[in-house]
Amino acid sequence: MRVLILFVVLTVFLGGCMENTQESKSSPERSSHVKQNIQPQRLTSEASQNARNTEPSKTGDIDYSVGRELKRDWIYLKGSPYSKKVAITFDDGPDYYYTVKILDILKHENVPATFFVTGKNAEKYPEVLKRIHREGHVIGNHSWNHPDFSKLSLDEVKQEISQTEELFQQLLQISPTFVRPPFGAMNDQLRQYIQQSPYTVIHWSIDTKDWTEKPAEEIMEVVRKELKGGDILLFHSAGGGQSLQGTVDVLPQVIQYIRQQGLEPVTVDQLIQIPAYQRSSLQ
Ligand SMILES: [Zn+2]
Repeated sequence: MRVLILFVVLTVFLGGCMENTQESKSSPERSSHVKQNIQPQRLTSEASQNARNTEPSKTGDIDYSVGRELKRDWIYLKGSPYSKKVAITFDDGPDYYYTVKILDILKHENVPATFFVTGKNAEKYPEVLKRIHREGHVIGNHSWNHPDFSKLSLDEVKQEISQTEELFQQLLQISPTFVRPPFGAMNDQLRQYIQQSPYTVIHWSIDTKDWTEKPAEEIMEVVRKELKGGDILLFHSAGGGQSLQGTVDVLPQVIQYIRQQGLEPVTVDQLIQIPAYQRSSLQ
């Protein structure tokens, strides 16, 4: 029963990234989804709040002792709620504008982050991709073209992942284990594939919705309200033409706030204790 309840929570958590989050309406209580396949659900702050506020010692809906087992299988939304670490992640880069500004800030603050980049953009801006790697950040696979995986055949999904991986191999000699499906969209077929593959799906527990061109203060409000140890924060370092100036403006404040809370910003592999790259990667 607990496994079923956790499955509900995981399903609801499968939130969207960029464009699709606009349609965000799903409710954490909709357990009926779970009896079917994993559908591309949209993350709601309500859902993440509910999960975050529940600890294993309480009689809440979520038992993290079960959750850890299940999540270790194939997907992570966050690290341990008792962790003093959090992971800042940036999707959809690289580009030659926002990603560069973000890298400058991270360097200045001496903070490592995790970048889920698309093959398409990495091919376009290989020097920025190399800089991300060189400066100690972790790189994850965010597909080649940023399609909705739940609408592709498994072969097409594999192609999206492997084409991007080949580019990472070619440019950096790494094979990332972390995959973040665009829009957080998954289906049961993909889950089964991931479970048997060297990959781990990484979602997030705090969606800043920075891509909606929010000003820094509004992004900061989300972070102040939601941040807890173990969180994975979702930002973007490039996008479909929207301004990410709010992201750039707020980043130093976010880092300062994390530290003020006695938390440490780390890369996702450090947060969840899973290697970021396959063993065959030449580091
Ligand atoms: Zn994305």
